[in-house]
Amino acid sequence: IISVEHLEKQYGDHLVLRDIDFQVQSKEVISIIGSSGSGKSTLLRCINLLEEPTGGDIRYHGDSVLAKNFDRNTYRTKVGMVFQQFNLFKNMSVLDNCIIGQTKILKRSPKEAKAVALEQLVKVGMDPYRDARPQQLSGGQQQRVAIARALAMSPEVMLFDEPTSALDPEMVGEVLKSMTNLAEEGMTMIVVTHEMAFARDVSSRVCFMDQGVIVEEGNPFDVLNNPQHDRTKDFLIRYH
Ligand code: ATP
Ligand code: MG
Repeated sequence: IISVEHLEKQYGDHLVLRDIDFQVQSKEVISIIGSSGSGKSTLLRCINLLEEPTGGDIRYHGDSVLAKNFDRNTYRTKVGMVFQQFNLFKNMSVLDNCIIGQTKILKRSPKEAKAVALEQLVKVGMDPYRDARPQQLSGGQQQRVAIARALAMSPEVMLFDEPTSALDPEMVGEVLKSMTNLAEEGMTMIVVTHEMAFARDVSSRVCFMDQGVIVEEGNPFDVLNNPQHDRTKDFLIRYH
């Protein structure tokens, strides 16, 4: 679905991503691990064009997303994103949070948008809270609403940037459960995470990033239990 080719991102004279190459096939769940500052968020933000790459290319079904005539607005609806800090609209109910993008951007009718929103809220177990405001919810509940909101846009790929890092420990499980269900339904996912159990048990592939490069990638067992590179080993020692 997405092919990242020699991707490069530079801020000033700081090269944050260098020569990143990787492909995402339909229904793959890719976990990206790596220490702070290694460029994981920047990679996700380049993929959904929140950041402009400074070199290389990203192809979506073969088309360069950087081409002048590429329809970025449609592309952005196809690539959903869930952030560490939920980013829900505070002055709107849970249900309206999941409706607004559909009516404003996808031009769905209010009736259809509501039906889709409720369907996604049911999936993450948040339909009983449809009339609540985000501040009335726990962090884990807010994050599940953020997932439902992203899914309501009918994306083809979902990007998650450390979706459980801002949560109290007791809330982590419920969010990982929603993500695991989504993976089992066959959603294509790229997940930046520090949750090694999720990376090991749910993902089809793990990429380890360090200093702006993908040092090692492969199936979860190979990368997590039998890493080949010293930098991967050093990183993993800190998580065991
Ligand atoms: P973390 O695990 O802490 O979230 P990360 O792997 O997501 O880290 P990034 O946020 O992608 O890392 O940052 C990679 C590098 O790029 C860091 O050195 C950071 O300081 C730098 N950086 C990120 N965003 C910007 C920006 N807007 N302007 C300048 N430098 C930036
Ligand atoms: Mg980050």
